Amino acid sequence: MAANILLVEDEPGIQELLKLNLGQAGHTVTATDDAEGALQYLKTTLPDVILLDWMLPGMSGIDLCRRLRADKRYQPVPIIMLTARGEEQDRVTGLDTGADDYLTKPFSPRELVSRIRAVLRRRAPQMTEEPVETAGLELDPVSHRVTGNGRLLELGPTEFRLLHFFMTHPERVFARSQLLDQVWGDDVFVEERTVDVYIRRLRLALEASGHNDLVQTVRGAGYRFSARR
Ligand code: CA
Repeated sequence: MAANILLVEDEPGIQELLKLNLGQAGHTVTATDDAEGALQYLKTTLPDVILLDWMLPGMSGIDLCRRLRADKRYQPVPIIMLTARGEEQDRVTGLDTGADDYLTKPFSPRELVSRIRAVLRRRAPQMTEEPVETAGLELDPVSHRVTGNGRLLELGPTEFRLLHFFMTHPERVFARSQLLDQVWGDDVFVEERTVDVYIRRLRLALEASGHNDLVQTVRGAGYRFSARR
């Protein structure tokens, strides 16, 4: 489960150590020294996880966390707070601002790697490699195979990611802009009507096994994946 991680940490030593260890664990790390740098980066890129130091020069990690949680675009991104402060009250404050987890320095890189895996599993099930199944439609992230009632279906890479996202988030309506953020991620300048193009391709691919009806249009709202009518 390789993730794109944004690390916001002003101490060069810790930054280097985490970059090295997370890189070895298969993750891609982008590091920035302060909240301003993080906000700049987030304008164009949505990471899978944000590691956020509490004490930063300028805007604090806590304030940045609060700000990200108040913005719909960043709400799905898991945040792990890193801090030198270990008081129980700090921990509560950290989690109250909407952080998903909280690690007190010094922590072992191994502990961090396992916490990252845990938040990803919780917040972003499409990042895991578990096979998913709905009404005879099966998707296996490891072999990159999709079958409908046992029959192999041909999907392009974007349709595959779109279907994986839908299957791990059933029964919820997603606006085109949300799908762009979640499935296209980095490329936020893609136009919203691109989503419609790929939805059409996905439905076409699913037609072979009659699963195209699972991808439903919700008028005025977006799209939903559902086995119900
Ligand atoms: Ca710091």
